[in-house]
Amino acid sequence: MEPPELQLLTVSLAECKRYHPQTVRKALQQLLKPFNGIGAFVKQGQKVLLKPNLLAAAPPADAVTTHPLVIKVLTEMIQEAGGKVLIGDSPGVDEQEEAHRVGGLQQVIEETGAEMLLFKTTKIVEANGFKVRTIPLTAEIDQADLMINVAKLKTHALTGLTAAVKNTYGCVSGNYKRRFHLEHPLPLDFSRLLLDVCMAVKPAFSIVDAVIAMEGTGPRRGKPRQVGLLMGSPNAVALDSVAAEIADFLPEQVPTVAAARMLNLPGSDLADINITGMQLEDCRVSDFDKGPAGSGKVSRLIANFPLAWFRNMLYARRPYPCVDNHLCNSCGVCYENCPAQVIKILNGVPVIDLYNCIRCYCCQELCSRGAIKLDRP
Ligand code: SF4
Ligand code: SF4
Repeated sequence: MEPPELQLLTVSLAECKRYHPQTVRKALQQLLKPFNGIGAFVKQGQKVLLKPNLLAAAPPADAVTTHPLVIKVLTEMIQEAGGKVLIGDSPGVDEQEEAHRVGGLQQVIEETGAEMLLFKTTKIVEANGFKVRTIPLTAEIDQADLMINVAKLKTHALTGLTAAVKNTYGCVSGNYKRRFHLEHPLPLDFSRLLLDVCMAVKPAFSIVDAVIAMEGTGPRRGKPRQVGLLMGSPNAVALDSVAAEIADFLPEQVPTVAAARMLNLPGSDLADINITGMQLEDCRVSDFDKGPAGSGKVSRLIANFPLAWFRNMLYARRPYPCVDNHLCNSCGVCYENCPAQVIKILNGVPVIDLYNCIRCYCCQELCSRGAIKLDRP
């Protein structure tokens, strides 16, 4: 067994070609082996919060949310180790109970005896201070003795990829998520905030479900893509650095990884990470569709150029959202969730005030119809 400090910078990769109970269990056991199994994290009688990606009420086949079978097998393993399991996340859109039901987590709860943890109230915690000093988190997470962060690997318009670090943003309380978008509109600034959040949430272990990931125009309307992997680490930054490599992103195309590198955080440099279980080269998906945010030279320049004003100038080249009226069903979700309140519904159609749009892409993230496109220069 490796010494604890090396374990922290260890990322474990386990092949998992399909969502089948025995296959997922075998992969999770292999993934946890370098850390001495789930029992190294979970003690008898402890309450463990499993925090999936539950962006919206979406069925598992859409690859929008962490697959319920991964959550179910983890729940059983924790229960076998003597722990009690709580499952919860706050969706960006839709009620939490509905997201649990449609995403298959309600069934997991019924079959395993786990509890649903509703995210309702707020507590203010001290932050690391990369971007903010305090963070309003969901107070209910205190009901658990530890959290296991169970993310989904998906493309993301603002952060290139969403994996372990970004998944902890679901612990930010309710409408504060929108306020943070408004206050930190630039990808690198927002990513520093995400690092603050991740460090405040302090997951004991993070897992990324990349059995079926999402490529293209994620995180809601991209295409499911088989990657055939479960990945895990106690260090969410290291896990994201490896996940970015596997999805064939340059570190600077993923602002959470780029921000961690600028801050010199442990796990931000691939050379320091001990990758175990599988060879990185055998896992890389060289034709992964990185979507609108992951393509290009602009991102590379942004990360390498030290002057903030120049970075900001380059960020100004990010695309604006536009509405495809043929796909829009006038549900109003974009209007209700725009942090900058720059969307109006006129004659049943959303109209965006581009002058004041901060390009946070929340509208694109939450539109269930894929009616918000990011191709307007
Ligand atoms: S663009 Fe999407 S979220 Fe906005 S009203 Fe139309 S369907 Fe709803
Ligand atoms: S219109 Fe969309 S991208 Fe622009 S500020 Fe509103 S939610 Fe963000």
